[in-house]
Amino acid sequence: MKIAAASADFPILAQKINQHSLVYLDNAATTQKPRLVLDAERSYYETSNANVHRGVHTLSARATQAYQQARSTVARFVGAADPSEIIFVRNATEALNLVAQIFVAPKLQPGDELLVTHMEHHSNFVPWQQLAKQKKCVLKVVPVTDAGELDLSALSRMLTVKTKVLAVAHVSNVLGTINPIKEIVALAHTKGVPVVVDGAQAVGHVAVDVGQLGCDFYAFSGHKMYGPTGIGALFGKSEHLEKMPPFLYGGDMINSVTLDQTEFAHAPQRFEAGTPNIAGAIGLAAASSYLEQFDWQEVVRHERNLADHMRAGLDRIAGLRVIGLPRHSVGIVPFVIDGLHPHDVATVLDSQGIAVRSGHACAQPLLTRLGLTSIVRASCGIYNTTKDVDQLVAGVRQAITLLK
Ligand code: PMP
Repeated sequence: MKIAAASADFPILAQKINQHSLVYLDNAATTQKPRLVLDAERSYYETSNANVHRGVHTLSARATQAYQQARSTVARFVGAADPSEIIFVRNATEALNLVAQIFVAPKLQPGDELLVTHMEHHSNFVPWQQLAKQKKCVLKVVPVTDAGELDLSALSRMLTVKTKVLAVAHVSNVLGTINPIKEIVALAHTKGVPVVVDGAQAVGHVAVDVGQLGCDFYAFSGHKMYGPTGIGALFGKSEHLEKMPPFLYGGDMINSVTLDQTEFAHAPQRFEAGTPNIAGAIGLAAASSYLEQFDWQEVVRHERNLADHMRAGLDRIAGLRVIGLPRHSVGIVPFVIDGLHPHDVATVLDSQGIAVRSGHACAQPLLTRLGLTSIVRASCGIYNTTKDVDQLVAGVRQAITLLK
């Protein structure tokens, strides 16, 4: 399928906001949903809704089958060797907390080291910072260069015999940097360090094959890859999942229960206590199928071209500074304007129907490192066009005229 036609698949984009055609450039916060995803959820509720794994009746069997099918589709989409390596969760945040609490925490002794990077979203930073405090461990932070890339030689030096985990973003939600995860994993593994990848900004924007990356865990959210909110997934290597204790306790995660003890189900059920987000999983699978229609190289090129076009347009504006220039990046462009608060810029853009993010982008350690407290962030998706980018650049010029 052709990317040029993609916007027609997204009903929300056809509306006007503040009397202007909507220009949606806040895809790093959340993406819009194609009709295929909306139809999949609606059709599930209209034809198959029942609880999974419980009833013997027809609807329950149908719902169970659709839920299992969704797991297989998502597993194939991210290159997992087996569907049982995919755990459905609420979002990337929950997936990362799960790994911190039940994979890493039990292994920790005081003085051990947890390695994260300076470009992490709070979701892949705070769980490790808090775990380090709970277990009297040391949180080490891999530096980021001024261009917005990880300092890989520092990373290599910071992997020690005390390092119990490396947590790293595949793609930065602020700078758009695509980190060389395959190389990073290979490096960490030579030192026996497991790697947890935060893929929230990568899935849906670059090809992701967890088998090729070799990572131990990979977390992502449905809503950032054109799927529904409230559903995400954690890939975990089965050799790890089999040994991990449950995350939450309750129904749907047991084999048998007596008054004295409980035998837990195998992965992935062991990690999915309670009624799951069945419709969400089906929507997530529909989003995966939607994306599978496109050629990844074309998707990457499309979003990268938009980002280059945006940078070129913004760079010509006096007093505006685009932040970072990573060699490999997706369609995310952060910028600041002398004397103007990002919220004010975003408010003027909104009055022209243009949606961008303003604020700290849930990455305060990175912003502090860059000498900033707040940015404007424009982020592209599959449906954006150079016309959208031109409107953004014109909108920014107008904001400056209005606000200065
Ligand atoms: N990691 C990154 C890189 C993100 O951009 C985000 C969302 N902004 C998250 C994690 C958290 O995603 P969620 O809120 O869906 O859990």
